[in-house]
Amino acid sequence: MGRFDGRVAVITGAARGIGFGTATRFAEEGASVAIVDLDGGAASEAAAKLSVADGAKAIGVGADVSDAASVDAAIERVVSELGGIHILVNNAGITRDNLLFKMTEDDWDLVMGVHLKGAFLMSKAAQKHFVEQKYGKIVNISSISALGNRGQANYSAAKMGVQGLTRTLGIELGPFGINTNAVAPGFIATEMTDATAARLKLDVDEFRRLNAEANPVRRVGFPEDIAAAVCFLASDEASYITGQTLYVDGGISLGT
Ligand code: NAP
Repeated sequence: MGRFDGRVAVITGAARGIGFGTATRFAEEGASVAIVDLDGGAASEAAAKLSVADGAKAIGVGADVSDAASVDAAIERVVSELGGIHILVNNAGITRDNLLFKMTEDDWDLVMGVHLKGAFLMSKAAQKHFVEQKYGKIVNISSISALGNRGQANYSAAKMGVQGLTRTLGIELGPFGINTNAVAPGFIATEMTDATAARLKLDVDEFRRLNAEANPVRRVGFPEDIAAAVCFLASDEASYITGQTLYVDGGISLGT
């Protein structure tokens, strides 16, 4: 018996990284899984790698979470192919880092569009089904950068915005049997942080080592660390928790 037997989980940006790690965990625990990602081919390839429980399915769905029509079509496809929707993880993300004086309006709009508008659009499309069935779980992926991070005015604002959205949906949707929470990861070893290493002209292993050294638990995080927290918040064990943001960062946001 898995915690998510009979459930359908939709995870955005799940063709790789934290999203794929989370999709893997949901599948292991019995859920049918929809991997939503910009590139439909990559989403289907990732879905094919999941080992699902008997009677469960995994599909890949190409969609841009910042586009309302694309989001609505994705949710409808999930409902028709997987028979419903019970869990939504808003994980899709991009970075366009720069100091304020060099940050373009496009860099601002792109990042806000994917993280904040994307979470809004996906949650709005999913809540119709959640409210009807009086059951739903939304887990948004924020970041320790929400607390402020040099060179990330756009990303930091979007990720703190995600926390505000989470609190508000907790209040609005709670009466309908829907829990909304967020996970704020610290440094997680994925292509996103590898790209940051490249931008800083650092070797990937060296960048990870430096981040591990500076962290209270002396290691970097992995997608599995975030998947464990997301799955807990999406489970019925967490049904009295809503509107919260859980920092999963080895303690780095505590300061030293
Ligand atoms: P990642 O490896 O870069 O994966 C992000 C995925 O999102 C990619 O597959 C990407 O597709 C997809 N995506 C981008 N824009 C999209 C859109 N408009 N619609 C649908 N999918 C889209 O990133 P990650 O490190 O796993 O990060 C996942 C989440 O955790 C993000 O929200 C990130 O901000 C957050 N986070 C990460 C860290 C970290 O240290 N890694 C820390 C804190 C928070 P393409 O490749 O086609 O662009």
